[in-house]
Amino acid sequence: MEERRRRLVEDLKDSIEGELRVDRAAVAAYSTDASLYEIEPLAVAFPRRTRDVEVLAAYSADNNIPLIARGAGSGIAGGAIGSGIVIDFSRHMNQIVSISEDRVRVQPGVVRERLNEQLREHGRYFAPDPSNGRITTVGGMLGVDGAGSHAVRVGSARDHVETIECVLSGGQRLELGRELLAGRDTNSDAVSLNRDSAVILSESPQSDSLRLSTMTATTRRTLLLQQLEQILRENDQLIRELQPPLLRNSCGYRLRGILQDNKIDVGRMLVGSEGTLGLFTEATLFTTPLPRNRSAAILMFGSLEGAIQAMQLILPLEPSACDLLDRRLLSLGRGADRRFHDIILPDAEAGLIIEFSGLNEREVLQRLDDMQRLLSDRRIDFQLTRQASSYDDVELLWALPGKVVSLLASLKGNSRPLPFVEDVAVPPERLAEFLPVAQRVFQRHEVTATLYAHAASGQLHFRPIMPIPSRGDSTVMEAIARDLYRKVRDFGGTISGEHGDGLSRTAFIRTQYGALYRVFQQIKEVFDPQKLMNPDKIISNDPSLTVRYLRRTRPMADEVTGVQSTPLLPVMQLAWTVEEATDAAVRCNGCGTCRTQVSPQRMCPFVEENGDEEVSPRAKANVVRNSLCTNSVQELLAQDDTSRLLASCFNCKQCQLDCPSEVNIPHLLIEARAQHVQAHGLSNTAWLLSRVHTYAKMASRVSFVTNRLLNNSIFRRILQRILGISAKRRLPRFTRTLFLESQRVLRNQNSGAPGSNKPTVVYFVDYFANHHDPELGEAFVRVLEHNGYRVFIPPGQTVSGMAMFSNGDLAGARTLAEQNIRELIEPAREGYAIVCTEPTAALCLTQEYPMLVRNDDAGIIAQQTTDAGSFLADLHRRGLLKRDFSPLPMRVAFHTPCHVKALRNGTPMLELLALIPELKVLTIEKGCTGMAGTFGIAAANFQKSIEIGAGLIREMQTVDANIGVTDCSSCRMQMEQAATIPTIHPIKLLALSYGLMPRLSERLKSRPGGLVMS
Ligand SMILES: Cc1cc2nc3c(=O)[nH]c(=O)nc-3n(C[C@H](O)[C@H](O)[C@H](O)COP(=O)(O)OP(=O)(O)OC[C@H]3O[C@@H](n4cnc5c(N)ncnc54)[C@H](O)[C@@H]3O)c2cc1C
Ligand code: SF4
Ligand code: SF4
Repeated sequence: MEERRRRLVEDLKDSIEGELRVDRAAVAAYSTDASLYEIEPLAVAFPRRTRDVEVLAAYSADNNIPLIARGAGSGIAGGAIGSGIVIDFSRHMNQIVSISEDRVRVQPGVVRERLNEQLREHGRYFAPDPSNGRITTVGGMLGVDGAGSHAVRVGSARDHVETIECVLSGGQRLELGRELLAGRDTNSDAVSLNRDSAVILSESPQSDSLRLSTMTATTRRTLLLQQLEQILRENDQLIRELQPPLLRNSCGYRLRGILQDNKIDVGRMLVGSEGTLGLFTEATLFTTPLPRNRSAAILMFGSLEGAIQAMQLILPLEPSACDLLDRRLLSLGRGADRRFHDIILPDAEAGLIIEFSGLNEREVLQRLDDMQRLLSDRRIDFQLTRQASSYDDVELLWALPGKVVSLLASLKGNSRPLPFVEDVAVPPERLAEFLPVAQRVFQRHEVTATLYAHAASGQLHFRPIMPIPSRGDSTVMEAIARDLYRKVRDFGGTISGEHGDGLSRTAFIRTQYGALYRVFQQIKEVFDPQKLMNPDKIISNDPSLTVRYLRRTRPMADEVTGVQSTPLLPVMQLAWTVEEATDAAVRCNGCGTCRTQVSPQRMCPFVEENGDEEVSPRAKANVVRNSLCTNSVQELLAQDDTSRLLASCFNCKQCQLDCPSEVNIPHLLIEARAQHVQAHGLSNTAWLLSRVHTYAKMASRVSFVTNRLLNNSIFRRILQRILGISAKRRLPRFTRTLFLESQRVLRNQNSGAPGSNKPTVVYFVDYFANHHDPELGEAFVRVLEHNGYRVFIPPGQTVSGMAMFSNGDLAGARTLAEQNIRELIEPAREGYAIVCTEPTAALCLTQEYPMLVRNDDAGIIAQQTTDAGSFLADLHRRGLLKRDFSPLPMRVAFHTPCHVKALRNGTPMLELLALIPELKVLTIEKGCTGMAGTFGIAAANFQKSIEIGAGLIREMQTVDANIGVTDCSSCRMQMEQAATIPTIHPIKLLALSYGLMPRLSERLKSRPGGLVMS
């Protein structure tokens, strides 16, 4: 394998402009998609232009290497993985080429939602609406003939394609649409939508052999059309009989209606071919005017049967969409989003979302009324909980299915709703009859299944709840599929409506279509005689494909011997077992939510910056899972590319927060980094920056000199050369007297002993307030005292150790954690709250210490710890916070740090600042600042940090505000990096407004400048 990879790189590196990767991190990242499967590719290619794809296709044909097209890898059937070269179109080939009145020309890697953002400006959109449109690429949608809730009104991807530019096996590039057949009536060009002949765009280089790659595009085109015509004419009857005329059907190749008189709609046929016939490099799509005059409603039912009965009555009214959600989906939606809380009844067993469209608003509202009247007349027991007719309100209702489908994977426990029979479709009029039959199949196999249905088009998404399978597991999945698909066929349905066949359904296509399968094989032969285009998808002789390539979800030692052979497994660095870490990684189902760059959520700053799969949280989970399950942690860590992967995470925790399955990517990455540190040691810069507290004391003693030096560019250049600290980064000044050495801390009354009649709070100070901002410590203590608290500041506390933890120096972090636990445990046992002005410190004590030190004390301290904002906001909510704030007439630009979000207490500082009269707070919504503790200080990361924080930095330069405000000291550094206004901690504003520290008004005037902060 390695030799083949080496040769591949050698052969192709000068022939393509894009990148080709064969390292372990890349192949592990691309071994999976959103399916249950895993196949390690030989290599991953990232073409920059079509010429690269032609070269790859020619090389593949000459060297017998399979090619697997890939978009966002969000396909559920395993269509985008394989053992050859995976071609990721999403990285570079993602442009909108041109937009005309009613068409758009795109490259395949463009994300559907991004395309629609552009089209919206023209009052139009690309209409097929998969629920994950913020992730899925147009190439992937064309690959599987994607569709969504509105398929009954707008159709599927196939219905919106004019032509597709396709690179065939061998490297010939053809533009294919509705093709006029040779020798036929050339005058019958009355077709308004489609082109009428194949345009030959390029010719592969000729050679004197007879290899596929030596054929000209002209020859390929001529042969292709001749052979296609012959196959379609000869099998016309069979196609009509065996390919059902369903609204939704993406099983096998679409042959029905492709040949019409003297034309073959090759473009339409290619849609849904799952990369098995050719690689799409561009496409011209029809656009649709944005929908107007819609009305929608959500209905709740006390039983699933009631909802089905209602659905049966509603379908003849021709709704433009009608989706059915079962009890589990509804309760997930209710819990996940406040907006859905009121419209989903807690005891609902099923719900329907229905939409009508019409010529005007009156008509659509009338249709909703008619529907309600009909249901009432038929004595259906339902409750309409929300009705909508404005664009935003209707979209809100449709956001519900999108949200809950991803959340399905978050169900707790060892069993999950598994997607392998998740895409059956039956004629809509037989849906009510089919559902109980399907339920009986699941009952026979003793499983329950979740149900989400696009009822109007007969599409049913079942997910049986079963233990997560691993490679080599039993064939119960196959048995369920076999039984269910038999029933689907009996009902005139299809085993795949919109997700394609991939690995999960290809083995059943023969049963679905009988003799028609032979025709599919002939079609494949015409396009791809060497069977190199996405092998084993749609066309395969492997009867066990549904379970052959299941992902490894258990450590290999288990799998091979059946007995845990512990010595083979890696020694874990965090306080968890190999199985626990593997379980954490297995929670990632590959849904791809963490790839999105058009998300309202914050998500991974590295993805947001360049959109690469390789830095996505999904890739990180995959790489770690793969190395744990194949017992190859050390092999993985030995590679340079792995270091790059490890460097693309700074423990901001946004992925865990926004991931529907709450996959603990941050700890998986910390584990991997710690393994790396264990094997290779820490870099000098990481060592130094994570130990800054040890020499900061000395720097403070001579702060007058230190601060001058910090602002001296020559000294800073030397510092960069010797220690790797960026010479461009504005650094904080050192204080002369550390907060923990101030009188406030050293005086005798500073005691945590019980007995005082005042409530007591323990203040955990951490590095920044101690060494650079003792005023913050003082302000916080005064605010607490003002509110009637006694504050105990344990003098023996040290820094939280988050810098060491994030850098993978777990031994160092553990030492600090143990010291802090010793200092804090007694007051914590007394029940005192431990409060941190640094959100990162609160996060470290609550989430990282229990992973460093597995004992009860760490747990108790985690329970008692909170951040200052949450503590004070809680007082306010309970009516215990004093409100004697005096006005601060100014404008402040507020940034919420990632670690505040990760604490999951909302944005408490914003609540508190809102109490200050005349203070105008402008929130900056620019995502992560890119500082991430010490990350942005290192010269090696400086540029990346600036790139990630670019939006916020720009905002701070232009915002109409007197000061910036944030509670994270690290974010503060980035906010002051290029700004001319200072940034301060919100606690200081509270102290100032309370009138507790008038001298703080001076802070509002101090300016960052040169190489130092304000
Ligand atoms: C939470 C969730 C919800 C979903 N909801 C829906 C839904 O509502 N409707 C729906 O239809 N699907 C849905 N899907 C399935 C999936 O998102 C769609 O199948 C989607 O269209 C796949 O797009 P992709 O860019 O991820 O393609 P990939 O998964 O990367 O590829 C899909 C197939 O297309 C082929 N392909 C990709 N690019 C090309 C190309 N350039 N040339 C030729 N072939 C290519 C691949 O080889 C593969 O066979 C959902 C998936 C998830 C995880
Ligand atoms: S990490 Fe979460 S969001 Fe990303 S693919 Fe995995 S499950 Fe989906
Ligand atoms: S912790 Fe932050 S940087 Fe790391 S993968 Fe998650 S979102 Fe990305």
